[in-house]
Amino acid sequence: MLIACPECAHEVSDRAPACPTCGFPISEHVAEQRAAEQAEQERTSRSPTGSYTDCQPCEGRGFRMIDWTDERGQPGRGFTWCESCRESGRLPVVESPAGFFAVAVEHVDAFVAGELPTSSAYVTALGSEAPPPPTYPAPGLAKPGPSSS
Ligand SMILES: [Zn+2]
Ligand SMILES: [Zn+2]
Repeated sequence: MLIACPECAHEVSDRAPACPTCGFPISEHVAEQRAAEQAEQERTSRSPTGSYTDCQPCEGRGFRMIDWTDERGQPGRGFTWCESCRESGRLPVVESPAGFFAVAVEHVDAFVAGELPTSSAYVTALGSEAPPPPTYPAPGLAKPGPSSS
């Protein structure tokens, strides 16, 4: 395909490494544009799968063990509830052309709306295979899927 060189406007093949007239790096530019298009496509095609998988920050348990040192220098150990999964141990799974993602409960809507990048701290990339279901049952958690109330 012939495109206009963005630098000198001469027609040049989109597969040329560089513009023969001005030396502009055509193939690099084209690759960048394609990557941007793919990112945009990914951003606008996210959809919740309706399923859940283990929350990675807390390993599906709903809480995390934390170590600390008190004022006197004594080490201590305790737990903290996991905010990513709201203590449920499971995260909703969202699918996009880039694969599957586990997303912190609070941020699912923003992620699906394309307002969060896949590199966000609230998003865990799970790869192209559908993730396994949660390891532990979720006591007291609203069941996934349409609610009856
Ligand atoms: Zn040129
Ligand atoms: Zn968690």
